[in-house]
Amino acid sequence: RDPSVKKPEWLRQRAPQGEKFSKLQESLSKLKLNTVCVEAQCPNIGECWNGGGGAGGEGDGIATATIMLLGDTCTRGCRFCAVKTSRNPAPPDPMEPQNTAKAIASWGVDYIVLTSVDRDDLPDGGSGHFAETVKAMKNLKPEILVECLTSDFRGDLEAVFKLVHSGLDVFAHNIETVKRLQRIVRDPRAGYDQSLSVLKHGKLFKEGMITKSSIMLGLGESDDEVKEAMGDLRTIGVDILTLGQYLQPTPLHLTVKEYVTPEKFAFWKDYGESIGFRYVASGPLVRSSYRAGELFVQKLSN
Ligand code: SF4
Ligand code: SF4
Repeated sequence: RDPSVKKPEWLRQRAPQGEKFSKLQESLSKLKLNTVCVEAQCPNIGECWNGGGGAGGEGDGIATATIMLLGDTCTRGCRFCAVKTSRNPAPPDPMEPQNTAKAIASWGVDYIVLTSVDRDDLPDGGSGHFAETVKAMKNLKPEILVECLTSDFRGDLEAVFKLVHSGLDVFAHNIETVKRLQRIVRDPRAGYDQSLSVLKHGKLFKEGMITKSSIMLGLGESDDEVKEAMGDLRTIGVDILTLGQYLQPTPLHLTVKEYVTPEKFAFWKDYGESIGFRYVASGPLVRSSYRAGELFVQKLSN
């Protein structure tokens, strides 16, 4: 469907370079650390690993990277996502929290995003594993900033409580799309209200907790629906929002309905900041963790 929707020029990927990027790349090869940045060939790797400023590396040098915990196999199957799925993925590696923390601490990154597949097979949805990794990370390197981008834990608020008290700096959970498209885009076990509840309680359970969410554009949503979703996130106090273009990972996944222009992404950034988000990262290639450390330090750490 929609063969007329052609990929525009602005989605062309740039080759990463820059001093900090090169250093991180070099030291990474010695560590047993699989970053989403490399595995997913993320187009933002130059900007994130340099800490901003794009290819020239003119940012403030707060480098961000994303690590996947709990394996590579998900118990859900969202229609926008190409991750492998199974009802019974391999059990988590009990040494992963310690080993991951050790590797990250020796790597030299300033802001780490810990994320994972959904693990509906685990009694706590994997929240304990996340919490242990955050604790190990902060023990070894207290100055590192840690964001956890998690599943909805099936709406389990105990899991959310445990995680937000683990010492993390940012709690992120993505609503992914507007309310009307949830059933089409996400696995049926996910849902708009469940995701909002998780984000709301993440904030309520820990004073000062910074919360974050993300929406993909180009799936057929209207402007009013995007405004409604942004308004709903603000109502429950979400601080940070990212907006990016949905890209079809394989022909079996949902088709792109629209390539949203860079101008329109800029409009959404202004709109989001005008309704009270502390910052909005919005652009065709923006992903949830895009320049997260650099923007956190600029906008939130004072
Ligand atoms: Fe890595 Fe996320 Fe940045 Fe991509 S956007 S390079 S996955 S930190
Ligand atoms: Fe992909 Fe996450 Fe959906 Fe699993 S829950 S299929 S990892 S988007």
